[in-house]
Amino acid sequence: MEQTRQKTFTCQLCGLTSPYSYYGQKPPNTRAIVLLEECYVTKDPFSPDKEKFLVLGSTCSLCSMCVCVGSDCSLFYTKRFCMQCVNKHLDQFPHQIQTELAKKKERSKAAVS
Ligand SMILES: [Zn+2]
Ligand SMILES: [Zn+2]
Repeated sequence: MEQTRQKTFTCQLCGLTSPYSYYGQKPPNTRAIVLLEECYVTKDPFSPDKEKFLVLGSTCSLCSMCVCVGSDCSLFYTKRFCMQCVNKHLDQFPHQIQTELAKKKERSKAAVS
């Protein structure tokens, strides 16, 4: 039986759902690609290249919540952190990250008004 059961990834922060084909660090059928973290990947449906895949999301290394890779939901800094944990432990991140996030907040505020 070669039927691939559809597994679904759900981001617990923004609610994004998407079917994924693999969870781990080394997606199958890819040449020597090892990801920096265990994550949810799916084959790129828009690419004829079988080796192309998309990273949908990962689990937060602190609270193990499922989060997508969107910059509003998670941050990768040596490990994956969900935005909730980032905000909780912001003082433990390097200044560079803190300023990046502050800039982003400013931008989103500007977009709203
Ligand atoms: Zn998300
Ligand atoms: Zn977290």
